[in-house]
This record gives sequence, structure tokens and C-alpha cells, in this order.
Amino acid sequence: MRTYTVEQNKVLSEKKCAPYLVTGEVIDQIEGFRHAKLLDQTVPFMDLNHQWRLVREDVLNSFENIFSKSEFCLGPYVENFEFQVSKFLDVRYALGVNSGTSAIHLAVKALGLRRGDKVLVPSHTFVGTIWGLIYEGIEPVFCDVSKHCGTIDINTLKETDTEGVRAIIAVHLYGQPADMANINKFAKANNLFVIEDVAQAFGAKINNQMLGTLGDVGCFSFYPGKNLGAAGEAGLVITNSKNLAQKIRSLRNHGQSERYTHDKIGYNYRMDGLQAAVLSAKLAYVKSWNDERSEIANQYSNQLAELPITLPQKIAQDHVWHLFVVRSNERDRLKLHLEKRGVSTGLHYPIPLHQQGFLQGFLTEPPVLPITEDWAKQCLSLPIFPGMTKCQIKKVVQAVGDFYD
Ligand SMILES: *Cc1c(COP(=O)(O)O)cnc(C)c1O
Repeated sequence: MRTYTVEQNKVLSEKKCAPYLVTGEVIDQIEGFRHAKLLDQTVPFMDLNHQWRLVREDVLNSFENIFSKSEFCLGPYVENFEFQVSKFLDVRYALGVNSGTSAIHLAVKALGLRRGDKVLVPSHTFVGTIWGLIYEGIEPVFCDVSKHCGTIDINTLKETDTEGVRAIIAVHLYGQPADMANINKFAKANNLFVIEDVAQAFGAKINNQMLGTLGDVGCFSFYPGKNLGAAGEAGLVITNSKNLAQKIRSLRNHGQSERYTHDKIGYNYRMDGLQAAVLSAKLAYVKSWNDERSEIANQYSNQLAELPITLPQKIAQDHVWHLFVVRSNERDRLKLHLEKRGVSTGLHYPIPLHQQGFLQGFLTEPPVLPITEDWAKQCLSLPIFPGMTKCQIKKVVQAVGDFYD
């Protein structure tokens, strides 16, 4: 295949804002140009092709190896990824699984939570946060979130009835850390386990400590669009507890303690070797990708500052900007306007969990969550992804600005 090195400002130069390709990046000419043209016209919500170009060679070599040895389920590539990611996250045990949802389900099982127990959790999150509870007949007790950042509001926790509550799931929403100092304090005072849902915040820290290592168990999703994304479904459970790690290792693999021995009910939640190979290749880039997201968030924050929308709170050093979520009372009209201008957006999340159909009749009391409901009505996610160009950022900023002209 013929490849070319394309320098900034030398491609697609009819328009001042056209160059899409970064300096020195080697691309396949035809595909790359077609891609650049397309991106010049519209701004996608994310661009996973950029990541693929960087890891392609490494991943294809690993795939060759995995196919030739038929090491598809768990196996050396998964072990290797688990080792690397445990170093990256500075944690003793890392166990690869097949999704973030499975990761949380395993955490719930390994902690011994069961039918009749209750677990505190925000309602303003992705549904995957609570499936593990629902599967076990555990009632989620929803708490409201902070007006400023959309993560658990510790003050509303203090007013919550904790009768029967055995754990709390802290969700590090949008790439920003939840208030772990206060959550852990509250958990200790009430004798609760702490599960961290780090699906949106791989690599984010609090005081130099990686998210996922601040509670009892940390659960990650490597769904393709997450900050560290597989080529399909994958997830991870981390813990510093040997006992929990042992349980999770067995539960993810049919409940085996040794081969052919099944002491308890198990699951088939194993990670694929192919996914592990993709994740190992991407792990080398994730820090720089997170930095890139942060830079884009800075630019948005500066360039949108004068507009009558609510911008995400700036807590730069700990945030990995999985999403850049603005808020507006005219959210639906703004979204439509941006779509017409070729800017893709997302909603995270428009219907809070406590209002979802599957929970009707399941909750002891309908929760009162005014701030959560505001977030659901007002939130709008702007495009943010590694490889996003200045031109694309400008296009988004202009399109939002036009709405208010
Ligand atoms: C993506 C996500 C999950 C679920 O992960 P899957 O890998 O899709 O099962 C759970 N919680 C949050 C906050 C997420 O964003």
C-alpha cells in the first residue's frame, strides 16, 4: 500500500480551515483524503479512525499471532493487558471481562450483595451502572447529583435513609472524579462497600491516585467510544483485595476454582484475546489522548465563555473529558440547530434511571431528584475526541454562537 506523509496546511488548502491531518502523520492517501473531505463538511461526535491509524500495525501483528495460535478467550494477550493496565492504574489486581456492565455485576457478586440489600447510586448515569443490581434483585436507592458537576451530591446522601443499604456506587461521570473523599467518609460511617464506576474516566486521578483504586472495587468499560476503547465489547475489574480478586477471577470464568470444578454459580464474562491486543496497543496512547481531550475542553471553555449556556465546571487536573457536556434551557432547539449545521451531538442522559420503565413498581418509594431531572432536560454533549482539529472545534463554536445571534 502506498502511504504519504502529509504536513499540516499542505493538504486540501483551498479553504483556510481545511487541513485535517496533523504534521507528519502517515496515512493511506485515498482513504485519508476522503476522510479529511468528509470531516471538513461535518463534525462527527467522535472519530475512532484516528485511533485505528495509530495502532493498526501493532494490532494486526497481534491478531496474526492470536489467530495462528487460536488463543481467543482469556490467554496470554489478556494476561499481558491485565499486567500492563495494573501498572498503569497502580493497582494489585486487574481482571479483564467482556463489558463494563459485567464488571459491575461481578463487583456486586464478589462483595456478597444480594436480594433484599439496597445500594446507593446516582440516577443521572448510564443504565449499565445498575444492571448488576437489578440482575440480583437489589434495590437501587437513588441519590441526587451536584448542580455543578452532575456527580453524587454528598449533602443529599446525608438526608437519605440508609436502612438496608450495604454499598454505594460512585460514578465518575463525563471523565471527572466524583467526590470520593466525602463518599468514602460517608461509606465508612455507614459501613458501606464502595464500588467505583470508572467507565467514563480511565486515567483520571484524585491527588495523584488513579480512579478505581479509591473504593473497594473499580469497574471500567472499554466500549469503543470510551477514553480507552476496544474493537467491540470489553471491561475490567480492579481491586487491591486478594480475596475479591480471587472471587472475581472465578466468577468471570464459569465459577471455576480449578478446571471442571464449579463451587458456585458462575458467568461467562471473560475478555477476548483480540480485545486485549487492541487495548494493549491503545494503552500506550491513552495518556496523550486524555491530554488532547483536555486541551479541546480548554478551547471550548474559553471560546464559549460569553454565551448564555452553562459550561462544565473546570477541574482540569483531574478530568479526562470523556464528554464535554453543556447545559441549556433550550437544549432540544440547540441540538436541532447544531445538527442542521453539521455538528453531531449527544445526550448523556435525557431520561434519568428512576424514570425508566423497567424500574416502575420496583422502587419502595419514588425518589425526589430535582437536580437530576434538570440535568436530564438541559444536558447536551458536544463533540470531543482525540484527533479533533482546530477547524472542527471552530466549527462547533461558531455553530453554537450562531444559535444565540
Ligand atoms: C459505558 C458505561 C457503562 C457500561 O459499560 P458497557 O461496557 O457498555 O457494559 C457503565 N457505566 C457507565 C457510566 C458507562 O458510561
